[in-house]
This record gives sequence, structure tokens and C-alpha cells, in this order.
Amino acid sequence: MALSKNPLVGLVGWRGMVGSVLMDRMQAENDFALIEPLFFSTSNAGGAAPAQAKNETTLQSGYDIDALKRCEAIISCQGGDYTSEVYPKLRAAGWTGHWIDAASTLRMDPKAVIVLDPVNMPVIQSSLAAGGRDWIGGNCTVSCMLMGVGALYKAGLVEWMSTQTYQAASGGGAQHMRELLTQYGTLNAEVKALLDDPKSAILEIDRKVIAKQRSLSAAETANFGVPLGGSLIPWIDKDLGIGKGRDEPGWGQSKEEWKGMAETNKILGQGEGFGSAAIPVDGFCVRVGAMRCHSQALTFKLTKDVPVADLEAMIAADNPWVKLVPNTREATIQDLTPVAVTGTMTIPVGRVRKLAMGPAYVGAFTIGDQLLWGAAEPLRRMLRILIER
Ligand code: NAP
Repeated sequence: MALSKNPLVGLVGWRGMVGSVLMDRMQAENDFALIEPLFFSTSNAGGAAPAQAKNETTLQSGYDIDALKRCEAIISCQGGDYTSEVYPKLRAAGWTGHWIDAASTLRMDPKAVIVLDPVNMPVIQSSLAAGGRDWIGGNCTVSCMLMGVGALYKAGLVEWMSTQTYQAASGGGAQHMRELLTQYGTLNAEVKALLDDPKSAILEIDRKVIAKQRSLSAAETANFGVPLGGSLIPWIDKDLGIGKGRDEPGWGQSKEEWKGMAETNKILGQGEGFGSAAIPVDGFCVRVGAMRCHSQALTFKLTKDVPVADLEAMIAADNPWVKLVPNTREATIQDLTPVAVTGTMTIPVGRVRKLAMGPAYVGAFTIGDQLLWGAAEPLRRMLRILIER
């Protein structure tokens, strides 16, 4: 279904973490000039809509199916529970509009496309031609990875890939960021007097910090469950181990790790449901004490030996946002960190080098702001694709 001129577009979850970044980006790209926005809330129906509202200045209830049905397209950043509850009711009520969603709930639905248009525009176009109406943003780590090294997949060069991630606290939402910063403050306060004295013993500082980390209260670790400040957590999302034999490939994966292979292949339009073999992707997903941006170390087994310079040239030419970082110490520490990348659309790829295992084994390191390319940006671009077709 093509959208009409100035279509009514519902926005749900616009004040959350992803939603706020989406609103900023829509404002920056002048998207509101092309739509009549209708703002929804699950907690403040009847309240005032944000400044971007035009004619529809009152917040509608996010559970009001009749109000949702008025929209030609709906963008939801509200979360998986909301999608599970509302989406089936909306479709059952006969709504045929376009559903654009940040939550993972519908990603593996055969009717849905995982949208990342700089990487999979052909997949989007073929679904549009077939009447597709469900457009779901991908897992943040997978989307950022494909924005960086998608060129190698498109060229058929990847036999398999292993990824080790370093994911920021904000991947869990606003409360997780606050918890991390509070922990850093608590740890600093514990040893402030010793830090202020340049002659104090470092082992004394170390002992006090670990004692404090181990004695943080349940309230101080309510979001991550254990201390993250000054530590890391090598498990993200649910435990999927159920029903699989211990010696079966993939046994013991976290849900975040499972998404790596499932979503990479679905975004690229290959593997299950596409009549072709899936490319194996596996590794470990780790939460670290960064505020924003997901980083990942990648290991590729290539289908053939390709010179590093050629690989770098392909990566650099793939899309306007990818930025090749030379594999030098100085360039790496300046340009390949969450601090350098946060709040930018740039996807740096660096540390590209052949590994000791042989000429077909290549390593790389990439970072992306998971709230931009990993969440909000593919959604607003999908709305643009629908408006401009
Ligand atoms: P979030 O920050 O928790 O926001 C979700 C909703 O929580 C808001 O829309 C808002 O709904 C409600 N809320 C309650 N108290 C709030 C407060 N003090 N400030 C703002 N909102 C508050 O969730 P999120 O991180 O944006 O994630 C939304 C979806 O995107 C999830 O499905 C998530 O898995 C997915 N996602 C997240 C990321 C990420 O990096 N965070 C990346 C990719 C995908 P009402 O206005 O209706 O009350």
C-alpha cells in the first residue's frame, strides 16, 4: 500500500531512549514536514503531544486500536511487550497500514523484513513489491556490524564470521546508564582520599575498590544484577540453552549471540526462508562499562585469499557512513573508540589485518552508535522509503 501525501503517521515510544534519538533524527532530516504525526503514550493519554505535533496535539492511548487504525503507518519504539500485545489486535481489526518497529518481537516473522536499507535495499524492494507491511529494525550489534563490513558479505567473501562484542550500558535503556554512572561514583568516593594522596599504596586502593564492588547492594545493581562499573558481564539477554545437546553447535548461546547469525542472514536475504545456505556467525556478546556504542572484534574466514588493501577499499566504498581507520596505533586510539563515535552516524572499521591462522583469515574491529544505526536510523529511513516510493 502506497502512502498518501502528508500521511497520518503514529509514533509510539517517542520519549524512550530509542524514541528520543528517533525524534532528534526526524527533526534534523525534516521528516515531520512530510507527515501528519499522531503521538501515542502508554502512560499519559490525554496529555499534550510534543512540539512536533501539527493538528493532532493530544496524546492518544497506545492501546486504543481505533486511534491506531487511523494511521497509514506506525513507528513503535515502545518495546517488545507492547508489540506483542497491540500488533496482533491491530491486524485482527483489519488494519493494513505499515508497521515499523524497533522491538525484536516480529523480526523472524516470515512476513517481516529486517530493515537496513544501505545493506538490504533489494530485500526491502522485493517485499514492497509483494505487498509487505512489516518493517522491523534489526539487533543493534548486527546492524552496526553490517553497516561496517557489509561489503564483504555482498561480495560473497565470507565463509564464516566470529564476533566478540563490547556492548555499552545504554543497550539496556536509560536506567542501565544511570546505574553504571552511579557505580563509578560510588567506587570513586570509596577511595577518593587515597587517590588524592599521590603517595598512597595502589594495592590498598585496589583492595578497597574490589571490596566495595563485592558489597554493592541489590538496589545498586538492580538493572544489571551484578556490578558493571570496573567489571564486565559476558552474557547479554536470555539463556537459550534449553533442549539442545551440549555438543550441538550453538549450544549454550545467549539470545544476543543467537541473533548474530539469525539476523545477519535474514537481513542479507539468505539462509532459512530464502532457499540458500546460511553463513555461520557466532561468538561472545559482552556488556562493558561504556555508556553508548557497541564495539566488536571480528574474525573472518574468507572464501578466498584477498589482499588487505582490496578488502579495505571494498569496505570504504560500501556506503557514505563507513570510515576506514588505518591500522596504526595513533589512528586506532583516536578514531576507533566509543568516545570518538558516540552521537555520530560514522561507522569506523579498523584493525583490518591478516591473522596468524593463514591468508584467508582476516580480523577487523568496528564500532557503531547503537541508538543511531543500531536502532532509530533504519526506522526513519524506512518511513522515507515508503513516503518517496
Ligand atoms: P526505554 O528507554 O525504556 O523506553 C520505552 C518506553 O518506556 C517509553 O516509550 C515510555 O513509554 C516508557 N517510559 C517510562 N518511564 C520513562 C522515562 N522516565 N523516560 C522515558 N520513557 C519512559 O526503551 P528503549 O531503550 O528506547 O527501547 C525501546 C525498544 O527498542 C525495545 O524494544 C528495545 O529492545 C529496542 N532497541 C533498543 C536499543 C537500545 O540501544 N536501547 C537498540 C535497538 C533496539 P510511555 O511514553 O508510553 O510511557
